[in-house]
Amino acid sequence: MRQAPYKLYLPEDKLPTAWYNLRADMSNRPAPMLNPGTLRPLAPEEVYPLLVEELVRQEFDDETRYIDIPGPVVDYYKTYRPSPLCRAYHLEKALDTPAKIYYKFEGNNTSGSHKLNSAVAQTYYAKQQGLQKLSTETGAGQWGTAMAMACAYFGVDLRVYMVKVSYRQKPYRKAVMETYGAGVIASPSEQTQAGRAILARHPDTDGSLGCAISEAIEAAVGTDSCRYVLGSVMNHVLLHQSVIGIEARTAMEMLDEYPDVIIGCAGGGSNLGGLMSVYLTDKLTGRASPRFVAVEPLSCPSLTRGRFAYDFGDTAHLTPLVKMYTLGCEYMPHPNHAGGLRYHGMNPVLSQLYHDGVLEARAVGQRSVFEAAALFAAHETILPAPESSHAVRAAIAEALRCRETGERKTILFGLSGTGYFDMTAYGSYLDGTMTDHEPTDEDLAPALAALPKVD
Ligand SMILES: *Cc1c(COP(=O)(O)O)cnc(C)c1O
Repeated sequence: MRQAPYKLYLPEDKLPTAWYNLRADMSNRPAPMLNPGTLRPLAPEEVYPLLVEELVRQEFDDETRYIDIPGPVVDYYKTYRPSPLCRAYHLEKALDTPAKIYYKFEGNNTSGSHKLNSAVAQTYYAKQQGLQKLSTETGAGQWGTAMAMACAYFGVDLRVYMVKVSYRQKPYRKAVMETYGAGVIASPSEQTQAGRAILARHPDTDGSLGCAISEAIEAAVGTDSCRYVLGSVMNHVLLHQSVIGIEARTAMEMLDEYPDVIIGCAGGGSNLGGLMSVYLTDKLTGRASPRFVAVEPLSCPSLTRGRFAYDFGDTAHLTPLVKMYTLGCEYMPHPNHAGGLRYHGMNPVLSQLYHDGVLEARAVGQRSVFEAAALFAAHETILPAPESSHAVRAAIAEALRCRETGERKTILFGLSGTGYFDMTAYGSYLDGTMTDHEPTDEDLAPALAALPKVD
């Protein structure tokens, strides 16, 4: 067989025209969202005042296997997709492994991540509904940037609540968002009740995604013609990210390759869920049995140490109740350097799959993550985002195991983005001030004990 190319870009006529909704193929589907007041399953109409209607319909749709991507969204995708499927020849050589390492690189756009795939779709549907404003939060800044880009293109106003630690660590992220016309506020802020309440209790807090979400929701509900959008965790976000997996699978098929193991970092689960989506069908129908591995930070271990329970998506309890693996919505993760992985919960589909033993999970420390990132950068030339580097770490570990056993496994991992705005983090890795923070059981106990009592 001829040697696989270093990078494979699909031709435009092979780009996906529909998203794949993996819930349609699950026999054990995620539990319904609940109204926190009545503890009854939520009706879609109940969240229309908060979320864009078409996104709510997608969120509740467990039946439709393929959902057409609207034409204007496909056209926007064409400005930065396909993303390349890359073969890590140089890294394989450096590791002296018999394994074949492939990665799908999503960092080739200004947001520097896969987030744009969903931002464009969400903004398009908001515009279709006639909305003039959107409000959201951002942790590391990639989602805020992606939304700023999409809103600039479709002509929608955007306000972004940015977790304070990122706001400080990444001032240029803010400048990029503002260049695209977005308003950016450090969270917790004095502008919302949720923000003021947190500041009263924890005046020195670095903020958290859960808290920024509360502020963005409060702002959306209190503003005319405004809705709230979310860049991860929700099932409709996973749906949009399926373009990653569909493209990867088509490209792998062109190379006559099939992955033995699929690896992704998991904050809220959208890039991993998107990458594994079309391969999951094979596993659920018994056609093939690839392994799926979620990689999370030791400091925010939702899957590996959280509980599978109903919880709120935000600190101020403004969201519906979602059944997921969670550390408790009051958990304030240590300010590690992978802002996009610092969320207390996990997407309900991935949570269910983990609970059913279909998905594996591991937690890794950030120093070993940056060590992997530097090795990857040296050999593959791309400087990975700290979040993505969690997947790099696990892929390298898998390849090194193959060196021990002599197995020629095919590894596919998601390189969800680039780390050009994360140089403070790289700097602290290089000067030796970076620490690994692993919460003790006592650290985790209070937020777990405060989980809402549902069943
Ligand atoms: C946001 C982000 C993540 C984490 O979000 P998921 O929904 O778990 O994919 C991972 N990598 C990058 C580069 C991100 O921006």
